[in-house]
Amino acid sequence: MDYIPAPLTTPTCLLALVLTLTLGLILAFAMPTRAGRQSHRPPSLDSSPITMLPTEIIQHIASLLSSVAAASFASTCVYIRVATGTQYVSAIRASPRETLALLELLLADAPIDPVTNLPSRFLCVHCKRLVPIYIGCGVSASPACKEAWELSKKHIESSFSPLLFHTLMAMHRLERPCDALLAQITPTTSTYYDNHTRVAWQHSVRYHIAMSGRLLQRTVETYIFSHAHLDCRALGPFCSHLDGTCNNFSHAVEQVHTEVLGGSGRSQTIFIACGYCRTTVLVGARKFRRRGIGLFVIWWKDLGYGITWDEIWARQVDKVFPTESGRIGYFHMPVVEEFEGHNARYMDFDELSSRADRKELLRLSPYTAAVGK
Ligand SMILES: [Zn+2]
Ligand SMILES: [Zn+2]
Ligand SMILES: [Zn+2]
Repeated sequence: MDYIPAPLTTPTCLLALVLTLTLGLILAFAMPTRAGRQSHRPPSLDSSPITMLPTEIIQHIASLLSSVAAASFASTCVYIRVATGTQYVSAIRASPRETLALLELLLADAPIDPVTNLPSRFLCVHCKRLVPIYIGCGVSASPACKEAWELSKKHIESSFSPLLFHTLMAMHRLERPCDALLAQITPTTSTYYDNHTRVAWQHSVRYHIAMSGRLLQRTVETYIFSHAHLDCRALGPFCSHLDGTCNNFSHAVEQVHTEVLGGSGRSQTIFIACGYCRTTVLVGARKFRRRGIGLFVIWWKDLGYGITWDEIWARQVDKVFPTESGRIGYFHMPVVEEFEGHNARYMDFDELSSRADRKELLRLSPYTAAVGK
């Protein structure tokens, strides 16, 4: 007579039992708390009985799941991600969205360097990896990684890094510390003096993560010039669609210049906004006693959520072309309000730069006898 095994002793049945138990545990411990929370991050299962399962069982379960199910299984808690390992991310062949969601969680799990306050790895959404911070995508950078660098340098700021941007925004969404990352993408203020034109010039950039979860950038350029006119056509570009040659802008420069020369201590125009990417420009002027006229050109940009397939970003780097050729006009300025809060309507130019930056600009800007007080 053939030996008939008891149902529970076959490997398949054992596995089914373990799977049922595990899924039951996940449902029992993860779901009820998940529904009631605002956080995007699933609650920790560290204290649950699932952590008592041997790593091999977890790995075995993961290997049997479809790629979609494996990705969501790994995203349930730190314990399972550690058990399944980072290598596992590429092995599961999840969809790009699932892979990125998983990478964001792995990024948030990683320890923060106590000295630099930076994570040990950066998130590259283009080659879909966590890369070492001092190497970046390195030699295995994909064409998409390189293109993102080129576009950032061309359209945003020469020091802007898409790698830092995406890491910063992911950390922000997962409520991890981001001040050090914000400081990393903020370039130091540069100040120059040109002996021929006798123009002192300062360029400074600040970033701010808005309540909406988007990264905003504010650039302030201050010029102190002692004679004649500043060629405002050379200013900007402010975005891919709006630069110093635009009529609205040159009229604004003329207006504040004339008003300040005419005796008013300071002058500010209304905002000029790009109707396509929402970049908003403000022009202001004030007298600098015995130095000349100070011209302030300030522009705010919305860089979006720092995720792939973000149309806000695509508009900034001109990857999506305007359907109505970038309307330019005087609109309300949501980007300015999100950045400045209550201060948006009337800028105090002096408050837009730090004390040290102001001192440096004045140090480089010589006294001019020709310009009265
Ligand atoms: Zn990359
Ligand atoms: Zn002028
Ligand atoms: Zn624009």
